[in-house]
Amino acid sequence: TSAPNGSGEHRIKVLCRVRPFLPHENKDDTIAVNGNSLEISNVRSRAEAYRFSFDACYDALVTQEQLFKRDVQPLIDNVFKGLSTTVFCYGVTGAGKTHTIQGSDREPGIIPRTMRSLFGTKKRSREPMTIRISYMEIYREIVFDLLIPRDTNPASGLAIREDANRNIFVANLTERAVESYPEFERLFKQGRSTASTKLNGNSSRSHAILMVQVEKKEKGKRLCGRVHLIDLAGSEDNRRTENGRDRMAESGAINRSLFVLGQVVEALNTGADSLGGKSMGMMIVNVAPGHEFYQDTINTLNFAKKSKTI
Ligand code: ADP
Ligand code: MG
Repeated sequence: TSAPNGSGEHRIKVLCRVRPFLPHENKDDTIAVNGNSLEISNVRSRAEAYRFSFDACYDALVTQEQLFKRDVQPLIDNVFKGLSTTVFCYGVTGAGKTHTIQGSDREPGIIPRTMRSLFGTKKRSREPMTIRISYMEIYREIVFDLLIPRDTNPASGLAIREDANRNIFVANLTERAVESYPEFERLFKQGRSTASTKLNGNSSRSHAILMVQVEKKEKGKRLCGRVHLIDLAGSEDNRRTENGRDRMAESGAINRSLFVLGQVVEALNTGADSLGGKSMGMMIVNVAPGHEFYQDTINTLNFAKKSKTI
């Protein structure tokens, strides 16, 4: 039960998506989805099952299109009213975060669908409209601009600052006006190729954040809305695994970033003043069905439950 805000609407929606089994996986299913809740049980012991409820809960059959149309499109439409929205995926490595937020050419996810929708509206709009994007990565607490070549980024990363209104921003981050979907796609793919993912195969260790700003004039008034689409680093607890010193440092940085994220979730839930009561958000909790993921899934669902009841 999440706290309702003044308008009787939830500030942040929490959705759960259970991915299908992958071909090579052992099909020991631990999860049963039933309406907006799921039940998880340890298939190798007789321990009791746990039930978790969400604003929506999807099993392996939900398509990228269904999820987008039902849950994301309504948020995106608010951007044209000058509102801000954040959609992020949370879960352990392998649970389906990147598939959900980014997807593939064959099964495009939230980012390509959002951008197609925004450019479609821009095309139909009689009022001039500007769409600008920023794309960044946070790797070991260092912020990299993915719209410029890696070697043009300062080695220590871009600075995170707070403005007079206590809004957090990244200093000198590229903001680029984009005219069309194909232009966006080119920039996005280029950005992906300079991310740590490609440089050292550590996709699961970094947060990738796409920020889209939509600006238009309506009856002489300037409206500016934003969408933030975030692919978080894997939430697995690395203290349990035998990682080297580097991995532990990364793990600490990720946990600190997740702490900040927790504060953001709290701010969204309580409609804190710093967000001007104008933000909405959605957390998509990604989980995998197999027994190997059992403990990770329990941890993920407990985190999600906490974020919902703040
Ligand atoms: P994460 O980003 O959380 O580490 P991925 O998105 O890379 O996880 O997903 C792990 C694997 O599972 C990938 O091979 C991906 O294609 C596949 N996968 C994830 N979700 C789905 C889904 N809903 N349908 C089909 N395949 C999926
Ligand atoms: Mg990923």
